[in-house]
Amino acid sequence: MTQTINTTCPYCGVGCGVNATVSASNRHIQIKGDQSHPANFGRLCSKGSALGETVGLAERLLEPRINGQTASWEAALDLVADTLLKTIAAHGKDSVAIYGSGQLLTEDYYVANKLMKGFIGNANIDTNSRLCMSSSVAGHKRAFGSDTVPGCYADFEHADLIVLIGSNTAWCHPVSFQRIRAAKEANPRLKIVVIDPRRTATCDIADLHLPLAAGSDTTLFNGLLKHLSASALADGYIRHHTQGFAEALTAASSADMAQVAADCLLNPADVALFFAWFTATEKVMSLYSQGVNQSTSGTDKVNAIINCHLATGRIGKPGMGPFSLTGQPNAMGGREVGGLSHQLAAHMDFATPGDINRVARFWQTDNIPAQGGLPAVALFDAIYEGKVKAVWIMGTNPVVSLPNADKVKQALQRCDFVVVSDCIADTDTTALAHVLLPAQGWSEKNGTVTNSERRISRQRSLFNGAGNAKPDWWIICQVAQRMGFGEAFAFQHPVEIFREHAALSGFENHGSRDFDISAFADISLTDYDDLQPVQWPVNAANPHGTARLFADGRFFTPSGKAQFIAITPRPPANLPDTDYPLILNTGRLRDQWHTMTRTALASQLNQHKPEPFVEVHPTDAERFGLLHNSLATLESRWGNMTARVHITDGQKPGNLFVPMHWTAHYASHGRMGALVNPAVDPVSKQPECKHTPARIRTY
Ligand code: SF4
Repeated sequence: MTQTINTTCPYCGVGCGVNATVSASNRHIQIKGDQSHPANFGRLCSKGSALGETVGLAERLLEPRINGQTASWEAALDLVADTLLKTIAAHGKDSVAIYGSGQLLTEDYYVANKLMKGFIGNANIDTNSRLCMSSSVAGHKRAFGSDTVPGCYADFEHADLIVLIGSNTAWCHPVSFQRIRAAKEANPRLKIVVIDPRRTATCDIADLHLPLAAGSDTTLFNGLLKHLSASALADGYIRHHTQGFAEALTAASSADMAQVAADCLLNPADVALFFAWFTATEKVMSLYSQGVNQSTSGTDKVNAIINCHLATGRIGKPGMGPFSLTGQPNAMGGREVGGLSHQLAAHMDFATPGDINRVARFWQTDNIPAQGGLPAVALFDAIYEGKVKAVWIMGTNPVVSLPNADKVKQALQRCDFVVVSDCIADTDTTALAHVLLPAQGWSEKNGTVTNSERRISRQRSLFNGAGNAKPDWWIICQVAQRMGFGEAFAFQHPVEIFREHAALSGFENHGSRDFDISAFADISLTDYDDLQPVQWPVNAANPHGTARLFADGRFFTPSGKAQFIAITPRPPANLPDTDYPLILNTGRLRDQWHTMTRTALASQLNQHKPEPFVEVHPTDAERFGLLHNSLATLESRWGNMTARVHITDGQKPGNLFVPMHWTAHYASHGRMGALVNPAVDPVSKQPECKHTPARIRTY
């Protein structure tokens, strides 16, 4: 007997709907794209299509473990709660921390954040989303007064110019890429510009590729702002709906086109063509991703892009606007509940007057700290230095994915108490855990996620939990109850958490905050089970959701106006020198996901790129004596790795590219995080994973 269940793909931020046909008698599913889901209309990429191969019991963590020995849930939960309480009693609240993940469902994230910020009483909860989109969060907040993605995927079909900046969309957001390609086929006017140092698969549909110098995006967009000021300003829009334009234009005034081209190492004619297209086209979308965000100028890059849209009034209307492509399936949901250490919940934060008091009254606690906690890189530094003595890591593998990953490994080796909740047994991080808690994975979990276009979708259970695995929200609530916070964590089902999250989003929110799903504050279990994909805000004014925001020119800043940001370009934090003369760039592959714990289970996905590799330009290969397909050692000031040499002129001379996925578990010397410098953006605290000085030699 089979049953077809609608759910959501667990990989990237596109958030595709999936029809899973489930055989009740075994863990077998057939996967199809959900024709009715507005994110994908039936399309799936290679990873989504292979989901059926990843739901077996291979590699799964099936029972709790204490110091490597199988234990009961009672013993494991008691130990976690007891040790956290003793650590706090001995060393203070700030001695404990949580590090979460954009893989968590919104309901899981909500209770983790509530436990740490509301009841333990410190804000040391951060997430791997810090590595993914925190520069977008900060840029949105500076410009709009809120972390709001203004538009939606349907805008691809309305646009006449799509600019893809720092995004290999073809591999990292494949279904969005398919949709853009289809839009281009249907609309001969639609031009595509790709701005990326690498010539990637995304360039296959580009009318223009600008292989700019790594880190020079702010120079390019300052130049565009200055160019727009000559002939394409929306004067009325700027006057009535924005502030700070004069200062932003002054900061951009030295950026004449010839100098921009020289500073960005671009052909002047190509820069002129891009500026001309942007100037002449009303319906422009600027899509950006990690090449923008993962930078010590990440927030400035985001605002330099947004400045150009504000200057032309091209925002919040069909086919136009800046659009952040989020990396993970629930990076957006994490932002909604306050998963980053400077946030509170429901898009409130520590810096906004009144928010702490409001959330405290809603949660009925007087334990919320006065300020935000440690962001990811600083959090693991604090563990290394012994300031944080107990950490609970949920659904992520920081020993591989964080920059300066060898130091992260040492930090966990030094840490008094490491708890890891995960669905996978053997990872570089679980190997260092004192307590392992088996979490349910995709196909077992039940809750909601939010994709790049603010669309909330249900992830539904297809099977019971493997072995003794439990939902993350249940594990967190069990620990909270054992720590004495029972009443606030007496949830019996994720719908109860979703209701509370929705109620908080509407609490004293009279249009003052963007995130509002108060229409769901009393949702029934039946309606939650049947919930159809919907874009927030979903409230009394917008009961069926909201495709676009800001078309009326009203923003969430105190003045109600959007804020231009004056941008002064800065170089990356660490520049190449004689010892480390190359620039190391990192990124995703088409057929792997994060640290491969799920995608490596699908044999066809492993065939695409079977081992760690480094892309090298032919001139650099000659300079350093490298042969195609030979092995090479890459070194930076922070660590080293081994990779197969791929010589390609798609790489810019002086630049290297390595994929981010391999772990010690799959390739003993292929862990790229060991090389990556830990410099962070001063505003967003997002690390500069795209720009590390490095050298390369024959292995
Ligand atoms: Fe899943 Fe992203 Fe592929 Fe869609 S594009 S199927 S969400 S990995």
